[in-house]
Amino acid sequence: MKLTKNFELEEMVRSATSRERGIDNTPSKKVKENLRMLCEEVLQPLRDKWGAPIVVSSGYRCPQLNRAVGGVRNSDHLYGCAADIHAIGDKPEDNERLFRLAVSMMKEGTLRNVKQIIDEYHYNWIHISRQDGRTPKRCQVVHIK
Ligand SMILES: [Zn+2]
Repeated sequence: MKLTKNFELEEMVRSATSRERGIDNTPSKKVKENLRMLCEEVLQPLRDKWGAPIVVSSGYRCPQLNRAVGGVRNSDHLYGCAADIHAIGDKPEDNERLFRLAVSMMKEGTLRNVKQIIDEYHYNWIHISRQDGRTPKRCQVVHIK
C-alpha cells in the first residue's frame, strides 16, 4: 500500500528482527495514519529534493520489537513517528549529505513538523522524527558519537 509517491507502508513496518523472532509488527489505524503523515510531511519532501531513493531501515516498531532491537523507552518509532534512513549504497559521506539536506530543509521550513534529526554514530544512519503533538515542538539536531 502506497503512503506517498515513493514510500510504501510495507517498508515502514518491515523488520528482519520481527521476521526472525515471529513478532507481529502490524500497525494500528492510528499508527498507519502517523506513518502516512511522516512520509507526507518529512520523508517525501526530503526524497523529492534529494532526487534519489532513500532507504528506510526501521520505521514503526511495536513495543515487543522496540525492546528486541534495544530502542529507547517511549521511542518515536513506537508511534509511527520516526524512521531510520540512509542513502542508497549506505556510504557515510552520502548519509552526511542527506543529513545536511534534512537539517537545511528543516531550518528553511520546507520540512514541516520535524521533531528531531539525529546523526547516529558518524552517519551510520539518520534518525528523523515528526512532531505529532505529544510533546512540544523541538526541531532538534543531535549527533551521537
Ligand atoms: Zn531511530
